[in-house]
Amino acid sequence: MRYAQSVVDLIGHTPLVKLGPLAADVAPLVLAKVEYVNPGGSVKDRIATRMITAAEESGALRPGGTIVEPTSGNTGVGLALVAQQRGYRCVFVCPDKVSEDKRNVLRAYGAEVVVCPTAVAPEDPQSYYSVSDRLVREIPGAWKPDQYSNPNNPRSHYETTGPEIWADTEGRITHFVTGVGTGGTISGTGRYLKEVSNGRVQVIGADPEGSVYSGGTGRPYLVEGVGEDFWPSAYDQSVADEIIAVSDAESFATTRRLAREEGLLVGGSCGMAVAAALQLAGRLTADDVVVVLLPDGGRGYLSKIFSDDWMSSYGFLSSDGEATVGDIVR
Ligand code: PMP
Repeated sequence: MRYAQSVVDLIGHTPLVKLGPLAADVAPLVLAKVEYVNPGGSVKDRIATRMITAAEESGALRPGGTIVEPTSGNTGVGLALVAQQRGYRCVFVCPDKVSEDKRNVLRAYGAEVVVCPTAVAPEDPQSYYSVSDRLVREIPGAWKPDQYSNPNNPRSHYETTGPEIWADTEGRITHFVTGVGTGGTISGTGRYLKEVSNGRVQVIGADPEGSVYSGGTGRPYLVEGVGEDFWPSAYDQSVADEIIAVSDAESFATTRRLAREEGLLVGGSCGMAVAAALQLAGRLTADDVVVVLLPDGGRGYLSKIFSDDWMSSYGFLSSDGEATVGDIVR
């Protein structure tokens, strides 16, 4: 019989799929690494299991302990499912702008969710940063993974994501493209691919216009999970050869095309990364092999990116209902 011991053993070993219509006009083979097939539905399952295992080994997390993290999204799901399997309590702190649906996903896994006001400064005692710090101090046996500074975030990608891509492309990958949020994916995967190829593989970050990684000031953008207004320590600035900035309009137009033309219902940061990968591929040759990582699925974005009303309210749809990128209608 072939079966996994627990759902945690199903994390990783995600497939590569060739992009068809979207990559029709570029010379290289463009392969997408589909992370939504992880049991928690995103790439963040990888960091959750690695961060928890390392905390168990160091003694920072003891039997019956509590995991406290300010997160509302994919990292929370990953932590909640690993924690549940290993008998830890989870308390997530999130701002009130986070949708009720997202909070309910975390609760469905058995996590507790503390909601804080969005409209307060980070140093305000009610802010979600302050509340999570207070909970860590007050709850006995509490441990905060802190994905932004935890070295096991990039390490999980160095140990799993990178080797999987190298093995599945039989060492023929020439370019790796991924969005940058905490920086864990690009730093860990990118470092592995550079080491194993003696520096041959080029590593390209995709970033929302406005974020610091592509030289912005941290001004707002709508794509979720990527870009920052500060430089996290999980991000190794020496790894990326290039950062490509992508607008919200182009990220969302590409996300919708991935669903309609490739059968890949994925999140907005996936559209952003693919838009960057296609821009890059336009400069490359048929000898190149581009791998682009798709961090999560699209079900969490049905009322945003996949809603015509929401898209129109931001001017991302033309009158005939096609997603627009500047003057170009796709
Ligand atoms: N896309 C989504 C949807 C994410 O949640 C994240 C993680 N914040 C990323 C991309 C970026 O990954 P990383 O944090 O490893 O840079």
